[in-house]
Amino acid sequence: MKRIVLALGGNALGDNLHEQMVAVKTAAIAIADLIEDGLEVVITHGNGPQVGMINLAMETAAKVDESLFYIPMSVCVAMSQGYIGYDIQNALREELLSREIDKPVATIVTQTLVDANDPAFDNPSKPIGAFYDETEAEAMTKRGYNMKEDAGRGWRRVVASPKPIGIVESCTVRALLEAGQIPVTVGGGGIPVRKKGGKGLKGASAVVDKDFASAKLAEELEADMLVILTAVEKVALNYGKSDQKLLTEMSSEEAECYIKEGHFAPGSMLPKVEAALSFVKSGPGRKALITMLEKARDGLAGKTGTVIYG
Ligand code: ADP
Ligand code: MG
Repeated sequence: MKRIVLALGGNALGDNLHEQMVAVKTAAIAIADLIEDGLEVVITHGNGPQVGMINLAMETAAKVDESLFYIPMSVCVAMSQGYIGYDIQNALREELLSREIDKPVATIVTQTLVDANDPAFDNPSKPIGAFYDETEAEAMTKRGYNMKEDAGRGWRRVVASPKPIGIVESCTVRALLEAGQIPVTVGGGGIPVRKKGGKGLKGASAVVDKDFASAKLAEELEADMLVILTAVEKVALNYGKSDQKLLTEMSSEEAECYIKEGHFAPGSMLPKVEAALSFVKSGPGRKALITMLEKARDGLAGKTGTVIYG
């Protein structure tokens, strides 16, 4: 049976509680199609808006009630995994049962190991949560946050985004797969943890990129394919320009060349192509597919999307 890691992007989850309830239903249909086609599926997902919302809610609460403690970013990621996973597992369970497929779906609270010396800790770059004006941003900087202007849209808090070096619970994910169950895992890139003395792990103030974490998981599970589902059907060269060219496939050499030429926007398409590259290079015959959520089935049938191969 073909094993695939399915990474869901922002459009599969929406930007708030109501949008998420609606969006996961569409995502559940696309995922159930693949399960019906006989694929062994692992679901991963992002958490940008959700972790920003949780973080802001916790901070606002701590401001009005001093007995509430500061909640670290790692705990906010853990909370986002629970809340997003809950919606996904319910929507998918319901969709599968409506098709008379009796397969359990469960969310695993998943930790992602990062290197405490990762240079990303000295250069926070991942924007999370709400936008602020300059005065608010200055006040937040004084409170110790790293703030950055985001493409003319206002100021946002930025956090470190270190590279994943291992998925702590990947054996559990494998066990569920081998038992014919559907795991939801590595939510929001996984809870970032680093080694502390002995064998222990300690939460890190960071948010790991979900595409990189999904690639690492796919590698550890020896998956056949990493499928990144986002808002575009195909990856483009000269994206958004009059001479835009949609790609049906690219070899890893071509992908590296296009990266150097600056075709993929940092923070959106670049991490996806880089994650795809790291997975296809991790073992022979491994492929990655980038396409739209609604086109997942067609993409896996080779009818659309962009395939990256080693
Ligand atoms: P997600 O939330 O699904 O993880 P992002 O929104 O971060 O994804 O990134 C996907 C977006 O990247 C696309 O919707 C598109 O607007 C943008 N993008 C940037 N460069 C490219 C490119 N070269 N080809 C296609 N899309 C691109
Ligand atoms: Mg997005």
